[in-house]
Amino acid sequence: MSQKVTYVTLLADEKIHPEYEKALKSVEAEFGKTYPLYIGKDEVLSDETFVKTSPIDRRIVMGYFQKAKREHVVKAIEEAKNAFEYWGNLDYKKRIEIFKKVAELLEENRFKIAAYITYEAGKNRLEALAEVYEAIDAIKYYCKVYEENEGYVKRMNTVVPGEICYSVAKPYGVWVVISPFNFPLMLSSGMCLGALLTGNTVVMKPASDTPFGVLWLYRLYREAGVPAGAINYLTGPGNVFEDEIVTNKDVAGIAFTGSREVGMRLYRRFTSSQPYPKPIVLETGSKNPVIVTKNASIDKAVEGTVRSAFGFSNQKCSAASRVYVQREVAQVFVDKLVERTKKIIIGDPRKRETFTGPIINKNAVDKYIKYINDAIKNGGKILVGGNVIEKDEFKYGYYVEPTIITGLPRNHYLFKEELFVPILLVDTFDTLDEAIKLANDTEYGLTAGIFSEDENEIRYFFSKIQFGVVYANRRGGATTGAWPGSQTFVGWKASGATGKGVGGPYYLLLYLREQAQTIVKE
Ligand code: NAD
Repeated sequence: MSQKVTYVTLLADEKIHPEYEKALKSVEAEFGKTYPLYIGKDEVLSDETFVKTSPIDRRIVMGYFQKAKREHVVKAIEEAKNAFEYWGNLDYKKRIEIFKKVAELLEENRFKIAAYITYEAGKNRLEALAEVYEAIDAIKYYCKVYEENEGYVKRMNTVVPGEICYSVAKPYGVWVVISPFNFPLMLSSGMCLGALLTGNTVVMKPASDTPFGVLWLYRLYREAGVPAGAINYLTGPGNVFEDEIVTNKDVAGIAFTGSREVGMRLYRRFTSSQPYPKPIVLETGSKNPVIVTKNASIDKAVEGTVRSAFGFSNQKCSAASRVYVQREVAQVFVDKLVERTKKIIIGDPRKRETFTGPIINKNAVDKYIKYINDAIKNGGKILVGGNVIEKDEFKYGYYVEPTIITGLPRNHYLFKEELFVPILLVDTFDTLDEAIKLANDTEYGLTAGIFSEDENEIRYFFSKIQFGVVYANRRGGATTGAWPGSQTFVGWKASGATGKGVGGPYYLLLYLREQAQTIVKE
């Protein structure tokens, strides 16, 4: 690959379509199987399973997965502990070689994995393929960072004559890696990469709505040479895991991406239940704002906002969910925004022309209905959308219309809470200061965007905005589309725990602890 493959380059690549469509067929032939837990060298069955159906059409049974019991969690942690001795002491260059192989395998299987992502999460083909490429690029980037830092072994200053000093970064031990539904492959891949590449061992657990992405990772890690036990794959409801992972003394760290609610519970419990402080890497939800000033290119702002708010039906932690527009341009911006939103093609994500597919499950549809009703009750005006789509082929899936709402009071809960369904709120402002104050008036802090052709406004926005990933004038996505090695994906405030994000230069260090080594040579 000479050029980086992203959503934008995929858009122009005709060759992907026949290959992706072939992959859709080949994954269909695999549906309906029962999948085990992978614990150490063993394939383990629990006494209960759950069925994974597709949000595109819930008559499609993709497979049956195990509901892990607490004893399986205990066993997987034990296996990971036993495997740490070997994996943690392996030369870091050997681990880099294995991960380069993982990247190759991901690339070889990219169409099939993307087809699984479409089926399990409802992502359109470009979003699904971009997710696989993002995982590949993250691996390549971190192998490079680790190599450039020579495994984080650094010669330090000699202060006392005869002393030779090193800082040596070492892995902690067993990490539990828990991922959300919306990036079934990439998010677990990012966290596992951080933990495993640096020599830790891992117990991984996907969201029950999307168990296949992490299963692919498990298989490809093993094929590339990660030993059994260094990586373990468990499935099942999260609450079965909670008590064990926060209290088990052999858990050295937790990496979690998901909702703020679950993340904070794990954070509080893990820090209070263990005998001493242990690392917890959290990336959680957000409430991402876009600011459109009177100096914006309105066309750019409209396109960027629509892509960010309605790409993958707003089910991205980086999706825009509120837009503040300066009064002078509010009417023209909102008119064009509504017009552009009406043109969105909603449909079966297997079809090439589809921009947004279904949302993830019935619970998400119920939340969508509640939010729309609450908005109407509290003075909100629906400018476009607001309906569940149940006609024809849509009736078997979870389809809802992209929705724009205006007129809600600024302190309404819909302005404060993460919704994770395709609803965008619009409000107006008079001064940039006011807009930034509104944007920052949230406990969250993941992504934010501004549209303005005035460089002073952009500089001012960057200096005042309290979000970890900030963009100016991004037509491809006002707040979305971070890429490893280019945009560190880091949540501030309630959106993350460490202040260092995946895709950035400091991420691997979250999974390493320093040892200061001094040898005295007479
Ligand atoms: P979720 O919090 O419901 O679930 C995330 C994972 O936690 C799942 O694997 C789930 O099974 C598990 N889980 C649930 N309860 C648990 C418990 N008590 N103990 C242990 N594990 C438990 O989130 P979701 O609905 O799958 O994903 C959407 C959320 O993820 C949104 O809030 C979104 O913003 C966030 N997210 C954040 C980022 C980021 O990088 N900041 C990226 C993607 C998604």
